[in-house]
Amino acid sequence: MGVEDLLSDEDWDQPVYKLLARNDTGTAPGHQGGCVITKELLPFFPSIASLETSTDITAKRSISAHLFWNGEFLCTVLTDFRYETRKRQRAREYRLTRNLGPILGTAKPNDVLLIQRRSLDLDVFRLMVYSKGSQDYDWIRERIEKYGKSRRWGVLGTRQPMTVEDLAQAQNRLQEREAGELVLFDTEPLVMTSTATRYARSATFRTRVLDAYGGTCAVCDKGLRTPDEQTEVEAAHIAPKNRGGTDDVRNGLALCRSHHWAFDNGLFGVAEDRTLLMPQKCRDIPENADLRMLVGKPIREAEPPPCRASDEAFSWHRDNIVVMNR
Ligand SMILES: [Zn+2]
Repeated sequence: MGVEDLLSDEDWDQPVYKLLARNDTGTAPGHQGGCVITKELLPFFPSIASLETSTDITAKRSISAHLFWNGEFLCTVLTDFRYETRKRQRAREYRLTRNLGPILGTAKPNDVLLIQRRSLDLDVFRLMVYSKGSQDYDWIRERIEKYGKSRRWGVLGTRQPMTVEDLAQAQNRLQEREAGELVLFDTEPLVMTSTATRYARSATFRTRVLDAYGGTCAVCDKGLRTPDEQTEVEAAHIAPKNRGGTDDVRNGLALCRSHHWAFDNGLFGVAEDRTLLMPQKCRDIPENADLRMLVGKPIREAEPPPCRASDEAFSWHRDNIVVMNR
């Protein structure tokens, strides 16, 4: 896959780059494993500040990494984003370590590492090494010359990817909203917010909703997972985003892919007594037999109770989305 295709993929945020140094590639003396993440790149990684305590000298957070070598996908691994203070006198050092042999084992100094975060996930990254002399290497170096503030690391383009600060702001905004009465529809025009802010809000909403439902579907309790902890379960907006529905956890419902699709298309709704309802027209379709079996069953509620989906949101969904199928 060409680098331009990988970088223009809407599901992934703007990339950052790092020119690999000797101590990233296992060739430096006294080398520790993994790749150093410099101070300037830290805002683009998940916060591990919350893990810090005065006595801890190491902290880590596992992230899922899709490894690529010269544009070719190799494998998905769980790696650690961690910091370490060694022998007290040394400054704290941040690294990506563990399971990165397939890309760092063969990389050489001045090969370039591109790092992209999946827009909706806080802990899913693409780590892509381009070796000197490979097809896309010169194109990347030209972009670094053009957009990069530093030759060795920075943002590979004109738009800033989502940062830890964007996420903190999105979390604060959601908490403020959720402390008050539910506002089901946003009046603020989307064009007024930056892409990074929108990504941060969506990612925060997703995390809040999945946590509130224990990571499984509120309708069927299922949720397929990969070995690196990725889930098919999605955070559905009850009043949909494209109609102005807000990123408030009370406008959210965790649903498996199949039930998310069915909910968005009005195959089912949630009745006043919080059980699943289905229009007759949809019940009559033989392919919908599995869903029909769930009619009348209560949906699983979010925990804690303040996170529960609002009656107002379900009522709007019944009147505006389910109604056309009746
Ligand atoms: Zn489901």
